[in-house]
Amino acid sequence: MTAFAWHREALERLMGRRSRLPHALLVTGRAGIGKVAFARELARSLLCESPIDLLACGECPSCHWFGQSNHPDYREIVPEAAEEGDAEAGEADGGKEQGKKSLVIKIDQVRAIRDFVALTTHRAGHRAIVLHPAEALQPAAANALLKTLEEPPPATIIVLVSDRPARLLATIRSRCERVQLRAPARREALEWLAAEGAVEPEASLALAGGAPLLAAGLAAPEEREWRRKVVAELSRPDGAHPIAFATGLDRATLERTIFVMQTWVHDLVRIKVAGEPRHHVESSAALRAKARRARLERLLALDRELLEARRLAAHPLNARLAGEHLMMAYNRATLG
Ligand SMILES: [Zn+2]
Repeated sequence: MTAFAWHREALERLMGRRSRLPHALLVTGRAGIGKVAFARELARSLLCESPIDLLACGECPSCHWFGQSNHPDYREIVPEAAEEGDAEAGEADGGKEQGKKSLVIKIDQVRAIRDFVALTTHRAGHRAIVLHPAEALQPAAANALLKTLEEPPPATIIVLVSDRPARLLATIRSRCERVQLRAPARREALEWLAAEGAVEPEASLALAGGAPLLAAGLAAPEEREWRRKVVAELSRPDGAHPIAFATGLDRATLERTIFVMQTWVHDLVRIKVAGEPRHHVESSAALRAKARRARLERLLALDRELLEARRLAAHPLNARLAGEHLMMAYNRATLG
């Protein structure tokens, strides 16, 4: 995947000083705007042997290897569960297989960077490492990475990518140059979604708060079906039915439920404060009916609880109980 058009300028600005780039970059910005693609394209351009207009040529041996995912001077560090192909495998069996894989970046993975940089480079003399999401670094792994950043290996650039840089060690942040990426303009995002063949691009983009990659994921049929189910539950005039709803929830469906609940609660808050929903525009009547009885301070408390639940959803003790608990909290916030 090459970087997205809306990040080309930022990429050109960095590559314009390719010989003076720092040892470490921290690429930040909202989830779902294309940060990982940006980091990969930066690495590809840096390793390219005959860049065109500062960026990767796509033709040289280096670009070829990069395209085949076997460039000898490039490494990507991700949690085991996010490794290529596993996401789909996890979906297919309801997330059970994925459940066995690690969601964190472990110290062994960071130690492998040290071994990698100890070798001489194979090609043009540069070496690039992309690590994402950086907030998935386990504490021991973060400390090991810090040591590498403190003694930067020659001719190597380490690119960390994070939606939540505040979760990183301050000492890691301070060793990296920050690259803050923007979300595309609405028109740009809609054009891209249409080209991707997304169904109901406007609704998905609204739900994703303007982040196009997130929107593309939300436009998938199974996502839309799950969303309809959760929205129907949240819309019940007499309140959600927590026990019935939570039966059969697993980690994957719990995470999706939390996402829908968060956007729904944000809309309730917006209606109370500003009058207009932003995400679930098509359910505006149900939202308004709910907002009338909801109490603002309880909605805000629920929003904090959902944020915390989302953090824990990666390894819940019991998805069913967590789902039940959140639906009960929702009822308390919205039934007056
Ligand atoms: Zn090239």
